[in-house]
Amino acid sequence: MRRIDEVHVSIGCLAMVNAEQVGYGFGMLAKGTAAEEARLVFTLTSARLRCPMGHEMEVKMERIDFDRLLPITKCCECGFPSQIVEGRDIFLTKIVGE
Ligand SMILES: [Zn+2]
Repeated sequence: MRRIDEVHVSIGCLAMVNAEQVGYGFGMLAKGTAAEEARLVFTLTSARLRCPMGHEMEVKMERIDFDRLLPITKCCECGFPSQIVEGRDIFLTKIVGE
């Protein structure tokens, strides 16, 4: 690939970073490479939490909202602290270029 036009990134809604921070990091890494001019396309994915009693909960957020992180770590059925099973990851999902 000589030139990368688009880089698609999936960010878990509990990844603790937002698109702006990822974009900033990417800009620094891409400098001087084929991806220097690439456009970043973000998708925010939902998260899954599970408590010790086995209750699972799906969390969807339109944007990363740090104020909502604390309340959702408590299971809404039994009140035990839940663990994040999915939703903390940042994935590179697609690269478009020529
Ligand atoms: Zn529970």
